[in-house]
Amino acid sequence: MKTAVEIKDLTKRYGDLTALDSISLTVNEGELFGIIGPDGAGKSTLYQILATLLNPNAGSASIFGLDTVKDYRTLRRMIGYMPEKFSLYQDLTVQENLRFFASLFGVSVKDNFNLIAPVFGQLEKFPNRKAGALSGGMKQKLALSCALIHRPSILLLDEPTTGVDAVSRSEFWDILHSLKESRMTILVSTSYMDEATLCDRIAMIDKGHILKTGRPDDLISSIGKNLWQSSAKEMFALLEEYRKMPEVIDCYTFGAYLHIVADDNFNSRIVKDKLSQTFKDFELSKATGTIEDLFIKLSRENHNVL
Ligand code: ADP
Repeated sequence: MKTAVEIKDLTKRYGDLTALDSISLTVNEGELFGIIGPDGAGKSTLYQILATLLNPNAGSASIFGLDTVKDYRTLRRMIGYMPEKFSLYQDLTVQENLRFFASLFGVSVKDNFNLIAPVFGQLEKFPNRKAGALSGGMKQKLALSCALIHRPSILLLDEPTTGVDAVSRSEFWDILHSLKESRMTILVSTSYMDEATLCDRIAMIDKGHILKTGRPDDLISSIGKNLWQSSAKEMFALLEEYRKMPEVIDCYTFGAYLHIVADDNFNSRIVKDKLSQTFKDFELSKATGTIEDLFIKLSRENHNVL
């Protein structure tokens, strides 16, 4: 398998703040690879380095063997970059934006239209609408079309689904899967943990550190089986009660429930008998782990280490 992206001990500092702390990562050609982490994790900094717009303080990053610092001129033609902040010209129409991005790379929209056709879809109906007047989902598709118009070898998509409605988010992931079928390498970042399972592999990142890398299913199964969900009328008091139990490793709010990570001494029958006497509407059952559970666990460990 050919390596598409090789990141070695990459560090980026802004003054006293270390945004990326000696991270290493490999992405294979044709992979749909997710960079998953909350705001401030360092995702955009990583993307700016990969897009050759920012130089690291230490370490290196290369794409298809080309160094992002030394070989930036060649690399810029090979990369399709969709930055986190909206990249389009709001006062230009759909068609004008596309033509502009094509002209930057000396290609014509017509020649490469077949590549963007699946993405462009509904936009074809509004060629003269200004980009600023498009819905969030349509803007996102136009931005992706503009990033693709020069037939890049790799797509760097920085939080493309942030602030976009759920239907457009799901359509966007369908598009990424169809692009992947054409062997395009895609590096996509997101702070939506549920999107992790849509990637081939992911790197979980927090405060400039990579917490874990792997296939989403493998990572989820590493959470283990002793995960429980519980609820009652008085949720906060219930949380405090669980946190007092020696067999409870961690307890945190998870949507409408509490999630409880327990050790082998946790006996659900005994806990149920005890807590249902104290708490109204008490419930306790096995929970299915998610990437978010793993993220909470790993980032707590990471914070303890730092
Ligand atoms: P993310 O994309 O995951 O939200 P960023 O890479 O934007 O993370 O930011 C990582 C950290 O670096 C944050 O603490 C952020 O405030 C800081 N940061 C980002 N860009 C700059 C900058 N140009 N100057 C100073 N600090 C910055």
